Amino acid sequence: MKYYSLNRKAPVTDFKSAVIQGIAPDRGLYFPSQIEPLSNNFWNNIGDLSREEAAFHCIQPFIGNQIPEDKLMEIIKETVDFEFPVIPINEKVSSLELFHGPTLAFKDVGARFMARSLGYFNQDSDVNTTILVATSGDTGGAVANGFLGVLGVDVVILYPKGKVSPVQESQLTTLGQNITALEVDGVFDDCQDMVKSAFLDPDVIQKRRLTSANSINVARWLPQMFYYVFAYQQLKDQYASLSFSVPSGNFGNICAGMMAHRLGMPVTHFIAANNSNDVVARYLQHGEYIDRPTIATISNAMDVSKPSNFVRIQELYDRDLASLKHKLYAYAFSDQDTKKAIKDLENQYQYIADPHGAVGYLAAIEHLQSHPDQHCVFLETAHPCKFSDVMEEVLGRPVPIPVKVAYLMQRKQEKIEISSYKELKDFLLA
Ligand SMILES: *Cc1c(COP(=O)(O)O)cnc(C)c1O
Repeated sequence: MKYYSLNRKAPVTDFKSAVIQGIAPDRGLYFPSQIEPLSNNFWNNIGDLSREEAAFHCIQPFIGNQIPEDKLMEIIKETVDFEFPVIPINEKVSSLELFHGPTLAFKDVGARFMARSLGYFNQDSDVNTTILVATSGDTGGAVANGFLGVLGVDVVILYPKGKVSPVQESQLTTLGQNITALEVDGVFDDCQDMVKSAFLDPDVIQKRRLTSANSINVARWLPQMFYYVFAYQQLKDQYASLSFSVPSGNFGNICAGMMAHRLGMPVTHFIAANNSNDVVARYLQHGEYIDRPTIATISNAMDVSKPSNFVRIQELYDRDLASLKHKLYAYAFSDQDTKKAIKDLENQYQYIADPHGAVGYLAAIEHLQSHPDQHCVFLETAHPCKFSDVMEEVLGRPVPIPVKVAYLMQRKQEKIEISSYKELKDFLLA
């Protein structure tokens, strides 16, 4: 499989080099040059396959011969080694819970797959790779956990001081080994700017082979198809018309679902659920793509004003807004709506959703008003305990923390405080 850059000013490349580079030399996102649907037979009988077999058939064509089939199967097994339950909320709405992985976030799937792919590609290289990421909370934890102990890879994570929750901070700072946490005296955008500066700094890139691990990387983006397929395996015989409502920030998650659909998986609509950062909702409504400054919200993993993966969605629909609008819907909600939804879900259904999942639920409800014949699955993208402040404020009590992360909170935190790009650079060159 070849990959081309969506800026079209870089040479085509293969899966391995797309994973190692992350982004193309012309700063474009890589996109597969061919997408062949799987057979109707495959989709009709997918209930007979194990999850791992279904996942294997979906992703193998995107990798080709660059990872041997038995190795790929092993990577998939390790990646999806936890539950992906679909919980019925009522007869029109279900929650696809993606928080049963090691860091309680859907990002575990992409991060684990990418770490193992990169580990495989690195095994006979004598150059270490440095993964440099800025995080507002969830990405860093999933990446740190996914890459922990992977040979030949160092991970450096920048996070904004005082802006991540206690569970998230413990996931970033207590692992040690090849993981270093840098606590930045600033906001998430400052972390992001420092990371960008490092990628463009000749002194740094001469000394270290830098890669990012955000959803721009094809090895993080594509495996996110898996859990849509798992949900379909579970629901296909129950509902004739299925739609997915996806809490969206950079639009990598929803774009992976749309890729599974392009492979032939029957999905009626995709619904992008947004907070006040609603550039895509406005675009679908008015046809004009106008970004505004980022607004801070309680669903902060979706506080993105320029969603980087949206260009991939446009490419899937030949950059044609009219045909995209037949498949993709978008709705935006305020923090006030979101808090009310968390309360309603608890009062009416005894279901506790995190602020991101709650936005997904709201979008599902809104969509069903005009499309009552569908069953809507919203993605519950993180465990509510990761957003303890809001949850406690809304529910009036704390959400219990699962044991598999609670133990981290007892461990000693190690982090290096920095407040300028110069300090990051000194660290990377040291
Ligand atoms: C990252 C994240 C999102 C947004 O996902 P995208 O792929 O960037 O659209 C939504 N919810 C949670 C909890 C996240 O961590």
